Amino acid sequence: MTDQALWAPWRLDYVKTAGEDEGCFLCRYRDAGPSEDRTNLVIGRSERTISLLNRFPYNNGHLLVAPLDHIGDLEEASGEVLAECMAELQKWTRRLGETMSPDGFNIGLNLGRVAGAGLPGHLHWHIVPRWNGDTNFMPVVGNANVIPQSLESLYGLLACESSNS
Ligand SMILES: [Zn+2]
Repeated sequence: MTDQALWAPWRLDYVKTAGEDEGCFLCRYRDAGPSEDRTNLVIGRSERTISLLNRFPYNNGHLLVAPLDHIGDLEEASGEVLAECMAELQKWTRRLGETMSPDGFNIGLNLGRVAGAGLPGHLHWHIVPRWNGDTNFMPVVGNANVIPQSLESLYGLLACESSNS
């Protein structure tokens, strides 16, 4: 299995249960506010971004970083928004590295359904930690989700260290 193939699973069904008929889950979580963040697996907010655990992860520690604004095209994002998204990606990559010691990361953005975007109207970057050997199960099982750590415990691990950021 090549690294190329490992990007393809992102097109699978991580938003099927929060699909278009329910509107945009990123906007919904944004508007729900901090009191609902734990329920919604939102682990961080900044002036222009929201960060959350992917409810349907392709690997342990799979995070999403999105602008607060509902924009689906990179061209629509201001320099400030892009810079803040990159800063958040950097921060969460560092934190995942400190807390989970992965051997590497896939970090990426899917633009358009054909490219695998499950929520094409609202930009969101994926951060997927990678461990040597995880190719054995991840691309093959697809949505079988062999994830050794529960989302709840992962949230606790990451959120407790992000309270002052
Ligand atoms: Zn949205």
